[in-house]
Amino acid sequence: MDYLTELDSQLGDGDHGRNLDRGFSEVRRALLNAGGTDIGEILELTGASLVSSIGGASGPIFGTAFSSAGHAVKGKSKVGMADVVAMLEAAETAVGSLGGAKVGDKTLLDSLHPAAVAARRRLQEGDSDLVGAFEYIVGAANSGLETTKGLVAKKGRAMYLGDRGLGTPDVGATSLCIMLESALDFLRRLDAGKGSA
Ligand code: ADP
Ligand code: MG
Repeated sequence: MDYLTELDSQLGDGDHGRNLDRGFSEVRRALLNAGGTDIGEILELTGASLVSSIGGASGPIFGTAFSSAGHAVKGKSKVGMADVVAMLEAAETAVGSLGGAKVGDKTLLDSLHPAAVAARRRLQEGDSDLVGAFEYIVGAANSGLETTKGLVAKKGRAMYLGDRGLGTPDVGATSLCIMLESALDFLRRLDAGKGSA
């Protein structure tokens, strides 16, 4: 949280870490209350909780990303590689149409787009190992994040900084990478659990 706040202090208004921390506390509360195993519903509730608890740009943007990913897998309590692709592509499309950003505008799309492309490539290669695929997806998202250091922001508050933002990665892309890394971490633990069972 402090790292995200620090990055947002350099490029924006320094609230991003706190925003997400507050948002995900609300997500945790809502999910514990709701229960259930429908992954689509869980992601939709995650998105709705983020929208209702975070203002500014990132509430609606991250909220929409989670809600549309959830919509893509509604009714499923198990997901495979094709679902991962559907979730990432749905999130990318929704974020793009909500915020009007394109790849290269120094937003989370610069990580989300390569992540979706990487997932589709793994699917086309016939790979069904989710842990391996997520390692690849996280790698692609992190490479995308790296490119944001060389970009001038065209959206969000960082836009007002112009060239002075060069050298600093986009804060939203950074948090998206952290979220994908948490998903990878979760999948690894799930896999390890299966092995010992
Ligand atoms: P705020 O602008 O309310 O301070 P945050 O600091 O929480 O929002 O989040 C800023 C992040 O939101 C940016 O780093 C960027 O990734 C993302 N963002 C901002 N505007 C847009 C947009 N129009 N489209 C996509 N992403 C955006
Ligand atoms: Mg901010």
